Amino acid sequence: MNDKCLFFNLDNNVFRGRIVRLDNVLNDIFTHQTYPDNVAAAVAETSALGVLIASLMKFEGIFTLQMQGNGPLSVLVADVTSAGKVRATAKYDAKAIEEAQALRKTEGEIEPAPHWLGQGNLIFTIDQGRNTDLYQGVVDLQGKNLAECALRYFKNSEQIDTHLRLFLQKDGDSWKSAGILIQKMPTKGGKDASEDENEFNELWNEDKILTDSLKQEEIFDKNLSLEDILFRLFHEHQVRVTKENEYGFGCRCSREKLLNTLSSMKKEDIDNMAENGKIIATCNFCGQVYSFDKGELIKH
Ligand SMILES: [Zn+2]
Repeated sequence: MNDKCLFFNLDNNVFRGRIVRLDNVLNDIFTHQTYPDNVAAAVAETSALGVLIASLMKFEGIFTLQMQGNGPLSVLVADVTSAGKVRATAKYDAKAIEEAQALRKTEGEIEPAPHWLGQGNLIFTIDQGRNTDLYQGVVDLQGKNLAECALRYFKNSEQIDTHLRLFLQKDGDSWKSAGILIQKMPTKGGKDASEDENEFNELWNEDKILTDSLKQEEIFDKNLSLEDILFRLFHEHQVRVTKENEYGFGCRCSREKLLNTLSSMKKEDIDNMAENGKIIATCNFCGQVYSFDKGELIKH
């Protein structure tokens, strides 16, 4: 399956939406990193959410979705460039996750990401390069799943009515994730809103119910394109696809960037990291290994 996000609108452009399905991107992410199932699920879901939200933003550069908490899963990051490159990673305490799972005595059950993150924040950042301001949105991590946490952002920060669902599937060792989002237009619900508020709310409620009717086996059905799925759901709501974005795995790490980071560290920390005068660093996103001479770092 291709990794795509479709942009669509409903009811003669009164509402807008996105639908995304990730497959190859996740395979690439998990080629470089091995995670316990619960962490892999969180990374897969975060990637789909990152693509969905990035697709709503106008930017040239890098969109980053980051969650950090005080739980055994302390960091989840997915970033998406305007060119469609996606990467994701997680920081976690493997022992704490194992112990928590053992206590629950439920073999193989996937807990939603917020359960492992604990208390913390969900942060969106848009970086459009040098000489531009960073855009940042932050909300508390609250909700029983990632979709609920993200919806708090739309409700509190953007004040746009949004409906969002995320999906996960594991086939053997490989993960798939997907999501669908519908939203009232940022311009106060579109021009039709004032004409007939009741009809507008009725349409919105119907579209929410239709979104909720989408089943996991449907969104991951290889024989259904994303267009097919949208048509099945919204054929009575003038669904129109307006754009299609494709995504692939891509890392932006480089020896130079890492050299800058390491060079800014204290000399004693560099000494501690060094073995036989060399420092080996591995990129958390893509697994690329970089080797530096101690002297190269300290002289900077
Ligand atoms: Zn990398």
